[in-house]
Amino acid sequence: MTKTSRNNLQLAIDGPAGAGKSTVAQMVAHELGMFYLDTGAMYRVISYKVLKNRVLPEDELAVTKIAQETEIAFDHSNRDIVLCDGEIVSNQIRTPEVSRTVSIVAAYAGVREQLVKSQRLEAAKGNVVMDGRDIGTFVLPDADIKIFLTASTEERATRRLQEIKATGIDTTYQEVLKDMKNRDRSDSEREHSPLRPAEDSIIIDTTQLSIEEVVKKIVSLVLNTRNAK
Ligand code: C5P
Repeated sequence: MTKTSRNNLQLAIDGPAGAGKSTVAQMVAHELGMFYLDTGAMYRVISYKVLKNRVLPEDELAVTKIAQETEIAFDHSNRDIVLCDGEIVSNQIRTPEVSRTVSIVAAYAGVREQLVKSQRLEAAKGNVVMDGRDIGTFVLPDADIKIFLTASTEERATRRLQEIKATGIDTTYQEVLKDMKNRDRSDSEREHSPLRPAEDSIIIDTTQLSIEEVVKKIVSLVLNTRNAK
């Protein structure tokens, strides 16, 4: 569906891990009364279930079957709650083990096909802010606004370390940095929907910016677009 033939507003936010996508996307959605869909959490749910069922992440067929059979849900009254087949897994999907495996399972065409289908269905339901890696390039190519958020690798690792520690998991900066570089590499070099800015995206480097500054910038871009629509 093109920009003009639909009557909802779509904001796509893509970028590498730790660039601030989900925090910024949640705040923008809240401020503008749009709903938020965290597509990274969906890939994490699959990764979590693969590990839980002791399936080898390298077994593409078995992983794809899991993606086809898993029910992923979000509790929209509390945006931090993510469910896998009815079980709350909000913290379990953020462990370093899941983070290390997620890029392997997210590279499979069958897994992506399944999740992208649900993402597009969700996006049709109202004014939406969706964050991920391929939203502007593939999931919602006609999104009204496309943002590509980025920041230096070191800054992103520092932010991610704080997030992980807040969940009570013990890890080090070096470990987070190494995992992040590996994940950046596999997300950018994979065959299907690799991470890259859409040609018509607005690139925002958040290394030197506060969350509030980034949110303000994006909110004003959305308001201008909404008024012009
Ligand atoms: O955003 P987050 O870091 O939670 O995403 C976890 C992983 O899910 C990414 O590293 C990437 O491999 C995968 N992903 C993806 N496409 C998306 C969102 C996430 O491949 N749209």
